[in-house]
Amino acid sequence: MHAATRRAIFRRLAAANPEPKTELEHSSPFELLVAVMLSAHTTDKSVNAATRKLFPLASTPASILALGEEGVKPYLKSVGLYNAKSKNLIGLCRMLVELHGGEVPADRESLEALPGVGRKTANVVLNIIFGETQIAVDTHIFRVANRTGLAPGKTPRAVEDALTANTPEEFKRNAHHWLILHGRYACTARAPACPKCIISDLCEYPGKTKAGPAKERRRSQTAFPGASKSRMFLRKPHKTSAE
Ligand code: SF4
Repeated sequence: MHAATRRAIFRRLAAANPEPKTELEHSSPFELLVAVMLSAHTTDKSVNAATRKLFPLASTPASILALGEEGVKPYLKSVGLYNAKSKNLIGLCRMLVELHGGEVPADRESLEALPGVGRKTANVVLNIIFGETQIAVDTHIFRVANRTGLAPGKTPRAVEDALTANTPEEFKRNAHHWLILHGRYACTARAPACPKCIISDLCEYPGKTKAGPAKERRRSQTAFPGASKSRMFLRKPHKTSAE
């Protein structure tokens, strides 16, 4: 993909959603770390359903540690792999209490040493909490980067490296949010909404979907109910002279 096209894609996404935010509910660095750790292989919605019950009761490493593994399980039942994640959550809290004074560490090595925390979770925390420009690659970003031609790669790490190398500096901080939301609400796995996609003319995916009959179009318009954020990724913006 030409560098000017890549820049134009990020300009569009930025214009549609100037201040993108994670959809994982949290009110502290620790809550974000827990929510991201829990979100592996499950939806943000199910994580939010769990943490809405857990965090009002226990929202610090010490208080969750006091609940114990069996104590947190009932709160995590909406989350996939909740048995393993309950164990990891208690191990994570123990390490934060014993090694980091109950605080979320600000370096990759310490984050990735925590149970259940891999590169993707560390990248999200470093980006959102500590203001770094890491681009965490999840299943949505992997798909969007490959389909569009923004950063083709066979593995999440290859895509991360390509995005890190090629994303214009001014867009790096929010690239993760823009791409994840675009993948979640427009460039979905089974039926990408190409006819309504705000970057369809810039996207290099050869298998773009076409507008169907009126009945089908009406159905697809109701496929993203309610969320104003989703509409931002489905509306064609006016072209700017910068493009
Ligand atoms: S045009 Fe289609 S394939 Fe390309 S980014 Fe948009 S929704 Fe995805």
